[in-house]
Amino acid sequence: MIDRVSRGLFDVLAGSQPLKRLASRYGMKTGGFARRFIAGENVDEAIAAARAIEATGMTQTLDYLGESIATMAEADQATRAYLGVVDRITQAGIGRNLSLKLTQLGLTIDRATCVDNLRRILDAAASRDFFVRVDMENSPYTQVTLDVLEIMWQQGYRNVGIVLQSSLPRSVKDAQRMNELGARVRLVKGAYKEPRGVAYQTKADVDAAFVELMKVLLTGNVYPAIATHDPAMIAATRQFATERGISPDRYEVQMLYGVRRDMQAALTAEGIGVRIYVPFGREWFPYFMRRLGERPANIGFVVKSLVQER
Ligand SMILES: Cc1cc2nc3c(=O)[nH]c(=O)nc-3n(C[C@H](O)[C@H](O)[C@H](O)COP(=O)(O)OP(=O)(O)OC[C@H]3O[C@@H](n4cnc5c(N)ncnc54)[C@H](O)[C@@H]3O)c2cc1C
Repeated sequence: MIDRVSRGLFDVLAGSQPLKRLASRYGMKTGGFARRFIAGENVDEAIAAARAIEATGMTQTLDYLGESIATMAEADQATRAYLGVVDRITQAGIGRNLSLKLTQLGLTIDRATCVDNLRRILDAAASRDFFVRVDMENSPYTQVTLDVLEIMWQQGYRNVGIVLQSSLPRSVKDAQRMNELGARVRLVKGAYKEPRGVAYQTKADVDAAFVELMKVLLTGNVYPAIATHDPAMIAATRQFATERGISPDRYEVQMLYGVRRDMQAALTAEGIGVRIYVPFGREWFPYFMRRLGERPANIGFVVKSLVQER
């Protein structure tokens, strides 16, 4: 219940322009409160963070932040920015893995152009052996995001994967379909506040569905990513994998930059592959607010850092 209220509240706050302006002023300064979760505002900072992650034996995926852009020009700009990121990552010699959102590429404005923009990125990425993960956004975009993945698949792209959310009952069927295609899935609980009827409303239901989906994906054998910071979900995954003789190289765990760094290190030390999702860019505010909504205790360090500013 508290979880639902807090997510709803942070959803509303995420749209607040005055708050965004205030946060932008302080959040990303050296030692600023947002730096815990955001690697930086430019690609060089993201690459430095990625190098530090790789030095500890983990892998990474870079996410150039931005979502729900309002014009085709912005979608084109985001696409070009991603193409630039592909170049920079290639030059830097770090792991070649990107995450992106379709609303950033123009999905809400014109689906065909969004598909073209994604194709531009996938072409550049494929020629340099990148993997591109299409993040899953809130439920109005679930079907269309899956449709776009299928279009890409039909057109022969194989360097692309998707995300499914255990909060949505429909995900079981979607997971089976992705297994059939051979498309790689990142399993998450779901970051968005969703209406009754579309999504499970209690943590117990979301967690039970997560375990069920984890089993579907692990037995599908398409190298799923189990993305969670919940020790119970990770324990269930490891137990199931052991029972079925699924070795750790047939799946990976993914976690967000700055979240449960203790567990990231512990799993790596135990030989589980851990990939860190590294967000960067100037449009970090909505992403940051979702992280606060997931764990309101994080507000403590925001307030502390703001007080220290004065
Ligand atoms: C790599 C990755 C990619 C993701 N991509 C997507 C996506 O494409 N679409 C989407 O809807 N969602 C995505 N998410 C977010 C996801 O849906 C959840 O909202 C988020 O991971 C929190 O859920 P949890 O599984 O960690 O479990 P929870 O039950 O929320 O949390 C379990 C425990 O993890 C810790 N924890 C969780 N969140 C935080 C936090 N913000 N700060 C500090 N501690 C925390 C706490 O100890 C908490 O008790 C992604 C998550 C990861 C890890």
